[in-house]
Amino acid sequence: MKIKLYNSLTKSTDEFTPINGNEVRMYSCGPTVYNFAHIGNMRAFLFADFLQRVLRVVGEHDLKWVMNITNIDDKTIRDSQPGSNAWLGDMGKQTDNPLENLLNLTKFYENEFLKDIATLGINPEHFYSMPKATEYIEEMKDLILKIIDNGIAYVSDNSVYFNVNEWRKKDIYGKLKKIDFDNFLQGARVDADTYEREQASDFVLWKGKKENEPFWDFEINGVNVPGRPGWHIECSAMEKVLLDLPFDIHTGGIDLKFPHHEDEIAQSKAGYGIEPTAFWCHNEFLEVEGQKMSKSLGNFFTLRDLLNKGVDAKDIRLAMLSTHYGTKYNFTFKDVEATRKARLRVQEFIYTLFDEQFGTKEVSIDDLQNSVFVQLADDLHSPKALAAIFTIINNHNAAELTKESKDQLINLFAKLNDIYAVWEITPRPAEEKQEAPVEVIELANQRWQAKKDKNWGLADEIRAKVTSLGWTIKDTKEGFDLVAN
Ligand code: AMP
Ligand code: ZN
Repeated sequence: MKIKLYNSLTKSTDEFTPINGNEVRMYSCGPTVYNFAHIGNMRAFLFADFLQRVLRVVGEHDLKWVMNITNIDDKTIRDSQPGSNAWLGDMGKQTDNPLENLLNLTKFYENEFLKDIATLGINPEHFYSMPKATEYIEEMKDLILKIIDNGIAYVSDNSVYFNVNEWRKKDIYGKLKKIDFDNFLQGARVDADTYEREQASDFVLWKGKKENEPFWDFEINGVNVPGRPGWHIECSAMEKVLLDLPFDIHTGGIDLKFPHHEDEIAQSKAGYGIEPTAFWCHNEFLEVEGQKMSKSLGNFFTLRDLLNKGVDAKDIRLAMLSTHYGTKYNFTFKDVEATRKARLRVQEFIYTLFDEQFGTKEVSIDDLQNSVFVQLADDLHSPKALAAIFTIINNHNAAELTKESKDQLINLFAKLNDIYAVWEITPRPAEEKQEAPVEVIELANQRWQAKKDKNWGLADEIRAKVTSLGWTIKDTKEGFDLVAN
């Protein structure tokens, strides 16, 4: 099925077609590993995961999915400095080698990140690559040299800057977000990795070496300019090496449109002569009480915070996937609890599909699958897709279906679970079976006898009594099962 996606570049919902045959090459801006990620960050990664799964399952595409690990930037350097409180005892000893400290700190948080996303149902096997910025420094230097050679970057104060005004003579700067050039600080330069729109100005590609910071030598026109890459150039270089340009889709949180993604577009075009991609997809924020969840505001939960409160990671995943990625999601515990109920209802239906009890009704499986897939294909409309799943559940009683229909539904739910990854496509596990009270077992045995005697009236009467006691009798090949209501 063809997938339509909202494209931040064209500002419309466009039909998506891969550039090379059936393969989708997708790049997602990954985490900056200076501390534990908060669940706002996780929304961005779950969105990317959901998108790549819909492309696989609904679009039937092959995927080449890259998510980078930002292990060098302002924050990672700041927090790897001796004395930082992001440093935990098990990261090893702090040394007087800034690069070693940086790699120790970021390796630790990278591992925590990998554990967190696996807990949230992101399958590590789905990644083609997770490149770390420090492993692509040479490629970043090459790109910077190309931009300098093309006259769009200059060296000043031992750093290299992208010349925005020069670039504006050749192309638009402000493709993803309109930039207010009246407030553009002419001739001003910004060294920080993140900055506001009002401060748009020449941005840094290579930051000159500072005291106690990691650095690499960099020969520019015969002169060594030791330093380290700016954040934006990292993604431009890594996506080119790993996916080639242009690739199919670039994802990230909405705050990355400017400056990060705008700068990526300008750098790639100024250096390689090609924009990274024609499809930019951005997720909206996860908020807490109307504010973006962020470390700087201090209003954040990490995944471990929530797990420690007894929340199930599957419910966090489904809660986030229950809101359309393009709208804000207000995080509340009440919502996660409501999501849990919804998740378990679906799970219960899946279990009943495995019960050895069959009827004569048949399903029209293609129609059922389409009812969900059309919603997912329409810019990942997950709330409508979930509503369609509930319609399937509400309209079908598994016990009335033929074996073939039940098997078809099991297959359909397996496909849906390839996308949502929050259910078990298995018979009900034995340990979930609650022991029925003796009185109920006795009644169920009496009903079994009544059935054998073909005394259907009595059998039905006893079944009703058992139901009123909170249990359901399910007939099986060997006899019966008792399931708590
Ligand atoms: P960072 O680790 O800070 O580089 O951020 C990783 C990803 O999380 C980026 O794609 C951000 O846009 C995204 N992000 C940060 N805060 C939020 C939030 N509150 N809601 C959704 N996405 C966010
Ligand atoms: Zn990036």
